[in-house]
Amino acid sequence: MKAPAFDYIRVATVAEACAALGQHGPDARLLAGGQSLLPAMNLRLASPSVLIDIGRIQGLDGIEVHHDRLRIGALVRHETALRDATIASHVPLLTEALRHVAHPAIRARGTIGGNLAHADPASELPACMVALNAVIEVTSPRGTRRIAAEAFFTGLFQTALQPDEMLATVEIPLPTPAWFFQEIARRSGDYAIVGLAVSGDRLAFFSVADRPVLRQATAALDLDPPGDLQATGPMRRHLAGVLRDRALFALGGRT
Ligand SMILES: Cc1cc2nc3c(=O)[nH]c(=O)nc-3n(C[C@H](O)[C@H](O)[C@H](O)COP(=O)(O)OP(=O)(O)OC[C@H]3O[C@@H](n4cnc5c(N)ncnc54)[C@H](O)[C@@H]3O)c2cc1C
Repeated sequence: MKAPAFDYIRVATVAEACAALGQHGPDARLLAGGQSLLPAMNLRLASPSVLIDIGRIQGLDGIEVHHDRLRIGALVRHETALRDATIASHVPLLTEALRHVAHPAIRARGTIGGNLAHADPASELPACMVALNAVIEVTSPRGTRRIAAEAFFTGLFQTALQPDEMLATVEIPLPTPAWFFQEIARRSGDYAIVGLAVSGDRLAFFSVADRPVLRQATAALDLDPPGDLQATGPMRRHLAGVLRDRALFALGGRT
């Protein structure tokens, strides 16, 4: 199927992107890598009247350590992040998780900002950001807002972004503690049936609810996951318990 007709705007700055969002209202959508938005449009699950292409904004593709924080720009592509030595040495959890995000062709286009803004509950990166206690910086004509990852994901494909806000940067506190990442999927590159990202004593499960679910290592596993074609709710709960046990075993007393 083809996407419904839409207008196309290319912007050069974050300010222009936010202004265009404000001008065109809730029917407008930002276009980053297009790897989630364009399939949704082709399937007629989304029909924005205007696409605002942010792909050529300069300065949002940086990966840098600034004081005790790792800052990743919204337009950093998955494959770039996966191969980045700074991320690998400071936040190896993220490198490991990125190996599980889709396939090379999709990783070559998809962006970190697009992935987080899309807020797919089966996605690896939102859970990692919650486990890592990351802060998401968003920009609008009113200025910059910093949102804890835990508060950023508000529901199924829903975030705390206001209609005229753009995700600009994600910031991860350093140093990161002991970590663990595993997911159970039918095939490599598929979305997870259940997954777990751990940083220290912060366990963030994904694909078990409408958003990442944070639990402390010692807390009871009180999950109530939904069932679908891939797995029943009880099967997901069982698999989440298996991943939790593997994490606790792997990390031993190191969390
Ligand atoms: C076959 C296939 C398999 C995939 N498998 C996985 C997987 O296993 N795990 C996984 O995590 N992902 C998977 N993905 C999704 C992929 O990671 C996408 O790249 C990502 O989810 C969206 O990033 P994008 O840059 O392509 O965003 P786009 O598709 O351009 O945008 C997605 C949404 O985010 C909004 N948006 C984009 N950038 C911003 C911003 N800076 N600020 C505010 N809003 C913004 C857009 O308006 C849109 O609503 C898969 C995709 C495909 C097609």
